[in-house]
Amino acid sequence: MTVRVPAKVNVQLSVGPLREDGYHDLVNVFHAVSIFDEVVAKESESITVAVNGKWSDQVPTDESNLAMRAARALAKHAGRTYGADLIIQKDIPVAGGMAGGSADAAGALVACNELWGLGLPFEDLMEIAGDLGSDVPFSLLGGTAVGTGRGEQLSEVPTGGTFHWVFALAEGGLSTPSVYAECDRLRAAEGAEVPWPQLNDSLMEALGTGDAYSLGAHLSNDLQSAALSLRPELAPTLDAGRQHGALGAIVSGSGPTCAFLAIDALHARDLALSLTTTGAAHTAVAAHGPVQGATLV
Ligand code: ATP
Repeated sequence: MTVRVPAKVNVQLSVGPLREDGYHDLVNVFHAVSIFDEVVAKESESITVAVNGKWSDQVPTDESNLAMRAARALAKHAGRTYGADLIIQKDIPVAGGMAGGSADAAGALVACNELWGLGLPFEDLMEIAGDLGSDVPFSLLGGTAVGTGRGEQLSEVPTGGTFHWVFALAEGGLSTPSVYAECDRLRAAEGAEVPWPQLNDSLMEALGTGDAYSLGAHLSNDLQSAALSLRPELAPTLDAGRQHGALGAIVSGSGPTCAFLAIDALHARDLALSLTTTGAAHTAVAAHGPVQGATLV
């Protein structure tokens, strides 16, 4: 069984005040883009995981691998012991703010559901996904969706067209918890009251009408200053994208990947080339969204 799963970019990520349980309430608008991991599941006695591709050396292959955890959670849900060799072809940057680990977890759920002949409905997979991590349900769903709570309560957002993006991939990842901790630290130092997160209506309208110019103007990410504080060298990358005509430039999720919205596919190609040839980015990849979530191929 082979499943293809997309990366995501957050076109809005609003982070509420720190809660007593250590989490934050979020308004999170996820958008699935055409950078994919592939998860293959083959019959086996036990659950194993192997990772191929250029990021493979940064991904654990033990019990902490999110795809393995997903397969185990699915077997537990089904109430039996099952085996699967999971082989991940990794194209989504690791710890890049593009939910690569969550994508692999979603891929493993769909692949093992099929391999093991469980026939579990999508809603059951979504429930298991929510227990695995707040970004996993969106990796199953794909498209564009608003996540509230910790990000796991999702509602789909219809979009009026395809958006073209460029992603500048950084060397070395950023840990999501450390970026949230830096966000809390910066906010505490500032001392200002943190507002309750609100969905941006103008952004929703831009998504609905497919207006890339308006979407570019309304992209927002409350984690951006924390990511820039930890990685100051991302600021000139964002500036370079704007100078080369990006309609919007933001850090993707917790970073360090930077996302640039382009006018069209041709502009995305030119922008990616400009970012790499000028040295503003080490690697830049053009992609489009929205695309489907975890899909059997
Ligand atoms: P998010 O955008 O959801 O915050 P991210 O894209 O920044 O996440 P991931 O690529 O999901 O980060 O990886 C976070 C960490 O999870 C990595 O440092 C890695 O050690 C671990 N990990 C476990 N399983 C996987 C997997 N299958 N793929 C990638 N990373 C994994």
